[in-house]
Amino acid sequence: MTSEPDPRLGLPSASGAWRRRHCLGSHNLIRALAEANKLLPQLDSPEAASGTRIHQALAQGNLAGDGLERGEKQTLESLVRLENLVLTDWASGQEWTLLGREMRLWLHDGFRPLCSGAADVIYGTIHTHRMLTIDYKTLFGAREPAQTNDQLRELVALERANFPACAEFSVALLSPNTATSIARYDQLEAELALRLLRLSLEAAAEPSVPRTPGAWCKYCPANAQCEEARNSSMVALSLSEAISAGRYELPLGPKAAQLLDAISAALPVFEAIRKAYKEALREDPQAVPGYYLRDGKTRREIKDVAVAWHLATQRLELGLDEFLFGCRLNLSALEGICSLKGLSKRDFNTLFRSVLSTKRNAPELTRKEET
Ligand code: SF4
Repeated sequence: MTSEPDPRLGLPSASGAWRRRHCLGSHNLIRALAEANKLLPQLDSPEAASGTRIHQALAQGNLAGDGLERGEKQTLESLVRLENLVLTDWASGQEWTLLGREMRLWLHDGFRPLCSGAADVIYGTIHTHRMLTIDYKTLFGAREPAQTNDQLRELVALERANFPACAEFSVALLSPNTATSIARYDQLEAELALRLLRLSLEAAAEPSVPRTPGAWCKYCPANAQCEEARNSSMVALSLSEAISAGRYELPLGPKAAQLLDAISAALPVFEAIRKAYKEALREDPQAVPGYYLRDGKTRREIKDVAVAWHLATQRLELGLDEFLFGCRLNLSALEGICSLKGLSKRDFNTLFRSVLSTKRNAPELTRKEET
């Protein structure tokens, strides 16, 4: 199997900062598996693959989104619009320059690289030495805001190391699906972030540093091969079975938090193991007795509603009401298009108030610091 060269050179990266903070031993395991060529390939979900395409378009300056699907183009347009707003506000009339897109910064000890982090885009003011780093998030779901985001704090630390003359570091999380958040570090805070990063790297490099399973295992490339995560998953599984069979009372308090952490860690571990078996069956259909890879289900889809309407009226003299009965409005897409015409979310809600209804889903069980 050929694989892409690792841009991180097998070293810790800011993108794993949250996982590394909670499981210091994770990097040693990831590195050991990678060196032994045993790290399983990471298979992107369709949403993650779509996010990667949008990131690539932005990195290549393909701001028109050529080659992207319609929904992806709308996400890209929203990100570009948000970026322009944040940039204008941050620059406050000062002269600025684009320092780079998809820019990987390194921390060195002499000539030896220690770790890196890739920023989606970095701007700098020419005369006042301020930097703005933007991170795009295309997936739905809760994210730690910029003020407490581990990845962004480590990017600031890397910038402090690479641009020591910079006086102020701003970091912004942009997402078309959740609120934009911005944090600002002065030189002292950036220096503190750099020292924290060095401490974290030193602690993570200790050979005996333990591995601690939890919700962060979801983002660990070694989660299908980690003994601690597997053991924790088995404990969570047997405890869950005992609870559902009525043999064990549902724990509350700190034990409940421990059990929920173990379940959060177990689900991605099981999913990673399922993916690994899919890969094994793809390479050898006899690898797992009684299992095979069934072809994926096909799904019909009409992408161009205007052409469908034209065809329907040509053949059937269908009325618009009848045709629309078969259509479903994509609210976020409509909102995205309206926002490109300058309509804010509030104005959108006012304009469509008479036809807009709101449904609240059931409450979600969420860990307070989950990203
Ligand atoms: S799977 Fe979880 S416990 Fe194991 S190394 Fe990764 S983060 Fe740590």
